[in-house]
Amino acid sequence: MEIKDIFLKLTEVDAPSGYEEPMMRHMLYELTPLCDEVHLTPRGNVVGVQRGTDDSAPSVAIEAHMDQVGFIVANIDDRGFIRFRRIGGALERTLMGQHVRAVTEKGSVTGVIGLKPGHITTPEEARTVPPIMDMFIDVGAKSRDEVRSMGIDIGTPMVWAAPPVDLANGLIASPGVDDKAGLTSLIAVADLLKDVKIPATAYYLAVVEEENGLRGAYSVLYDLDVDMAVAIDTTSAGYQPEVNMRDLYYEVGKGPAIHYGEQGRGRVNVVHHHRVREWLKGAADAEGIHYQENFQFGGTDAGAMAKTRAGIPTASIALPRRYSHSPIETFYLSDLEDLVKVLVAAIKGLSPGFNLSRA
Ligand SMILES: [Zn+2]
Repeated sequence: MEIKDIFLKLTEVDAPSGYEEPMMRHMLYELTPLCDEVHLTPRGNVVGVQRGTDDSAPSVAIEAHMDQVGFIVANIDDRGFIRFRRIGGALERTLMGQHVRAVTEKGSVTGVIGLKPGHITTPEEARTVPPIMDMFIDVGAKSRDEVRSMGIDIGTPMVWAAPPVDLANGLIASPGVDDKAGLTSLIAVADLLKDVKIPATAYYLAVVEEENGLRGAYSVLYDLDVDMAVAIDTTSAGYQPEVNMRDLYYEVGKGPAIHYGEQGRGRVNVVHHHRVREWLKGAADAEGIHYQENFQFGGTDAGAMAKTRAGIPTASIALPRRYSHSPIETFYLSDLEDLVKVLVAAIKGLSPGFNLSRA
């Protein structure tokens, strides 16, 4: 399977946080032929398992989140204009004038985020981002009833409808790279390992609701026999106008990010399990793959999985991408391909003698 094709297929599946059902079905469809067992948990997490040849080898989970930042219908006025709220952290200043897609039981419905006509916008207004409560979506309907007849009502989720585009030098810009890049990796790794006999049992976890409090990841490992876990996510990259390494260290095109842990503004919040991190680095080194090391800006599912049961040894690897939580998250395909290579080599290399002890 081509990694780019796996990714592009995923961009056609809309999964705003808390409304991941279309992605659950897609991941079940993709993982079922690649795994020995696949199941869907009541919580909505998708779990695929490839059984290893040696029970004494550590079992490993690689994990990505199915949800993406999006929007939800808050109200519909009698003229058919839709008021909406964010689900997760979409950047408000990227919203005006954008295409959106409502995810309804009748299929998807296209809309646009409307705005005051340019000719009567004052210079002051033109420079200001209004609060999301002042914004509205136009789906072309003439009344509230017509909006409802299209399958849209209060509580209907939406996502950005911008298509993925190719830029020069193998860069791709798309909404939802966070975390369709991670889901791409799960499918690609499972595909590359499906016919390879290796000692370790590998779990492929596609979870819900990362963008709203890591909720899927908090529960996904609870009843699985997993010794160690890796979260695969995106990470914010700098090196663009107005963003330098004082603020963001990672850069697109310099390889996957193998994080030391996670940071907030000026403070480290999570330090990953050293043995798991070193295992990833060792695999990258052995394969001659360039990678970057720093702290993830913001939380990921790694923090939640590390708190499961007695504490699962956990680390994270990420795809650096520009313009996080916007409709144009931008990354190098080669970074994603290298991330997949690191995980394949790492999982292949797990053997019974693997030492997870920190002391
Ligand atoms: Zn993410």
